[in-house]
Amino acid sequence: MSDLNLMEKIVSLCKRRGFVFPASEIYGGLAGFWDYGPYGVELVNNLKQLWWRKVVQERDDVFGVDGAIIQHPKLWEASGHVAGFTDPLVDCKKCGARHRADHLADTGSTDIAELTELLKDAACPTCGEKALTPPRTYNMMMKTWVGPIEDDSSLAYLRPETAGSIFTNFKNVLDTTHAKLPFGIAQIGKAFRNEIAPRDFIFRVRELEQMEMQYFIDPQMQAAAYESWRQFAWDFMTTELGVREENLQWHEHAENERAHYAAAAHDIYFKFPHGFKELWGTHNRTNFDLSGHARASGQDLNYFDEETKERLTPYVIESSVGVGRMFLAVLADAYREDELGGETRTYLALMPKIAPVKAMVSPLLKNKPELVAKAKEVREELKKVHPAIAWDDNGNIGKRYRRQDEIGTPFCVTIDFDTLGEKSELKDTVTLRHRDSGEQERLTVPEVVERIRSSTSLSL
Ligand code: ATP
Repeated sequence: MSDLNLMEKIVSLCKRRGFVFPASEIYGGLAGFWDYGPYGVELVNNLKQLWWRKVVQERDDVFGVDGAIIQHPKLWEASGHVAGFTDPLVDCKKCGARHRADHLADTGSTDIAELTELLKDAACPTCGEKALTPPRTYNMMMKTWVGPIEDDSSLAYLRPETAGSIFTNFKNVLDTTHAKLPFGIAQIGKAFRNEIAPRDFIFRVRELEQMEMQYFIDPQMQAAAYESWRQFAWDFMTTELGVREENLQWHEHAENERAHYAAAAHDIYFKFPHGFKELWGTHNRTNFDLSGHARASGQDLNYFDEETKERLTPYVIESSVGVGRMFLAVLADAYREDELGGETRTYLALMPKIAPVKAMVSPLLKNKPELVAKAKEVREELKKVHPAIAWDDNGNIGKRYRRQDEIGTPFCVTIDFDTLGEKSELKDTVTLRHRDSGEQERLTVPEVVERIRSSTSLSL
């Protein structure tokens, strides 16, 4: 399967099986915006829940916040976003298409002089004409107005990243939790970027969701903290989400590629169907943000060390990943096609703990009330372990299994006449069918309950 073909297959599966739909599809969609459907929202929630558990709940040194999307515009001036959150852009004078200049030049650099040189003979990828304007910068923040008057005094921005309200709440969290350095603040939430060219399905969108954590440290421990959060990101992808290592790569930012605030930056790149691209960033933001906000707000955002009686402005190690990119990476990694029972099938080899549905229960025949009653009873038992237990009695059993394979359901449980005691030695046993191998085994209901409990636990 070619990689581009894989993207088409993922997009099609997402639509067909209710993972992702184009936003406002009945009006033709809106570039850069997507809606998650019934199974998509479950997968999204599972990813967020797992991240939150590992970053916040299982640690004593990271606290959660949930800040507003719209903050005081001064926040984005102090953070450097009003002046510097820009991408380089070129227009085609012939066909009007707009392109990211750095993408077109295939460079990590956003330096306008460098890009002008690199693109001086470039043709427009849309129409092929050599009619591109010189590169210029373009601010990606989305604007709105707060209150009824739409003028400069009411201008506000939809946050371009969640980190902003983490910094502005630094003092609040410190004062209310009495945390000691090092400690972190984490947030999951929507962010908005008016991307020039949203593309590659949910990889580059204009409304995104981020999972971000800022770890406040004494500058002396910057190297150790940086390494440990880099490792955390790698382990999360491989151990927690089961993504194969060969699909991941480290990418260290060169100086001309780093964001305006970063002293060091390493991204994890994932092998998306359109190539190895950024998935998860770990950045050393130094004390850029806290000093900037202290200066702009006139507030003291220092940390006072009770033991040494010293005041310092903490450094910050940031861990930042997009939910949608993680979703796409997980799907691309889990997408499989094989032959089963002489037929080609598609399945998602998702870790059971993140699968949207944990098990599907079905009666072998839907017109036999005793089978249906028993199957409902088994389903109720399984629901005590996990609520995401589906029911399907449509079509033949093979078709039901295939439908669940496509959404990544790790187990199917079938109730047949032997369950009811047709063969007395099999009474009260059911068939447990495994998604990846297609193998089936005969187990008692308590055994199935235990299997599902142990393999779907988030602490695995
Ligand atoms: P890129 O270079 O791909 O534009 P970035 O370096 O601007 O990304 P960051 O500002 O570091 O990204 O944002 C942190 C994370 O948020 C990224 O690693 C990515 O997972 C996610 N992200 C950023 N921009 C987008 C977007 N437009 N669509 C989807 N996810 C995004």
